[in-house]
Amino acid sequence: MYDVVIIGGGPAGLTAALYNARARMKVIVLEQTKLGGQIVSTHEIANFPGSIRTPETETSGPELIARMTEQAKEFGAEIALRKEVSSLELSDTIKRVTCTDGTVYETYAVICANGAYPREIGCPGERELRGKGVSYCATCDGAFFEELEVYVIGGGNSAVEEAMFITSFARKVTLIQNLPHLTADAIAVEQAKANDKIEYVFNSVVECIEGDGMVEAMTIRNTQTGALTRIEADEDDGLFGIFVFIGAVPNTSVYEGLIALDEYGYMKTDEAMKTSVPGVFAAGDIRPKVLRQVVTAAGDGAVAAFSAQKYVEKIK
Ligand SMILES: Cc1cc2nc3c(=O)[nH]c(=O)nc-3n(C[C@H](O)[C@H](O)[C@H](O)COP(=O)(O)OP(=O)(O)OC[C@H]3O[C@@H](n4cnc5c(N)ncnc54)[C@H](O)[C@@H]3O)c2cc1C
Repeated sequence: MYDVVIIGGGPAGLTAALYNARARMKVIVLEQTKLGGQIVSTHEIANFPGSIRTPETETSGPELIARMTEQAKEFGAEIALRKEVSSLELSDTIKRVTCTDGTVYETYAVICANGAYPREIGCPGERELRGKGVSYCATCDGAFFEELEVYVIGGGNSAVEEAMFITSFARKVTLIQNLPHLTADAIAVEQAKANDKIEYVFNSVVECIEGDGMVEAMTIRNTQTGALTRIEADEDDGLFGIFVFIGAVPNTSVYEGLIALDEYGYMKTDEAMKTSVPGVFAAGDIRPKVLRQVVTAAGDGAVAAFSAQKYVEKIK
């Protein structure tokens, strides 16, 4: 029997675990894969307070997550990996959280910190060639494209920052953006514009991706003229990379019909991170919010943990 079960081991879930464990609550984090969530797919976090590169400290996503995990565990939080939550019973005082492997956790409160997953382009060939040239993680796959050409889809912070990272491997990186301009922060745009390995194609979307085993060609459409352009791999290379950074989709399908979601599938909360179900709280990218970052996910996690603590103290 737990005081709090936290679903998701990203920055929101790990911060909530730290706060609940420090309050001497019996808390467990259930993570379906490995800890860290989306941020482990980035090589550098320059905008998390205190995350400054020094000769002694790294500022990568995996490094930050390793420190968050150690801190939560040090205060007594339990962490269980390969625990994908597949169903929940939330109406009674004692709630039941069930995983795909059949494990059932009983708890007074639940914090939903399932975050989000990368949005797909949705074009023919994308799924078939995922992991065969199509990627959503520059840290994981950037090095496979040493001296090759890479196309980055998107124009926001993630796209621009990951494009810069990929230039340390690729011969050339072309950003394909559906809008007439980039939407990343001014500082990221300045840095990208100063990088002569990066080129830009604006007002364009990907129509289809082709390849026999690996990505060999892609067709893009100009959104203003409708013109189609087929991009083929350089003859000597035989393939190229496509990295997609066009936003995220909330991981809320397991909560459908149980907890109120908004029209885009994000889990509704009030300022105390309370959801529509008493004793159930939400934190991080799973919520509707204007800025989806580690700092806001961690902030939500702290508030959700505090609210869960107050709730459990009252009913126990
Ligand atoms: C490429 C990239 C670069 C980024 N760069 C930055 C940056 O430089 N600075 C910054 O502040 N932010 C950055 N972000 C955004 C940041 O990563 C997110 O805002 C943050 O990770 C959100 O944290 P979260 O804990 O809410 O969710 P997530 O990080 O999405 O974590 C959710 C976790 O829940 C798990 N989960 C989901 N469903 C279940 C289930 N049913 N059962 C069990 N576990 C489940 C997932 O496996 C995942 O580990 C970047 C994001 C991307 C994709």
